[in-house]
Amino acid sequence: MARPDKISRFLPITFLNGMKVQRFGKQCPACRTMVGAEQMTGIASLIRNRIFLAADGHCTACGEVFPITCVITDDKRVHRIMIPGKLFRYWLFRTVRNHPQPSDTREWEIPEHLDQPVGRVVSDTDDVTRSAETLGRFQGAVIPAWIEYETLRYVFERAAPPGGNLQLDEDELLLDGRLIYRRTARQVV
Ligand SMILES: [Zn+2]
Repeated sequence: MARPDKISRFLPITFLNGMKVQRFGKQCPACRTMVGAEQMTGIASLIRNRIFLAADGHCTACGEVFPITCVITDDKRVHRIMIPGKLFRYWLFRTVRNHPQPSDTREWEIPEHLDQPVGRVVSDTDDVTRSAETLGRFQGAVIPAWIEYETLRYVFERAAPPGGNLQLDEDELLLDGRLIYRRTARQVV
């Protein structure tokens, strides 16, 4: 049974696509100091390939204690919870209790994904602008010469290696699970 603990003790948590959350931080609302998972007490759990997190953050700089409730999706984006924090906590604690977890939270990891991408992973459902210019085809799909995502431009770099042994640099982006793009200095306005 999962009990409230330091959030850092629940990490890392690995999504089905191999993305791994190792660290988690949130700014203290009072003094803006970054509060890390070591200073959060609560529960983090992977449920249906999303990380649900409910905790209290303890700011070591100013002493503020503040609630944190969020969902993290497998693109490592943090989403705010639109239901009241208390209700969410209640639901999460109940859900975790009803689904007994291994006592060692590290067992939640999916061990075959040892090389986790550190760049961005986007999919068809994300809002990606694809260039009309193409560079041929890879596995039947056209390769856009460049793409734009979240006001940044990325140029095609390489295809993802077969076998899923994927490593992404910080400024790389994986598109459709098979095309790797590199961020350019150019900012889209
Ligand atoms: Zn503070």
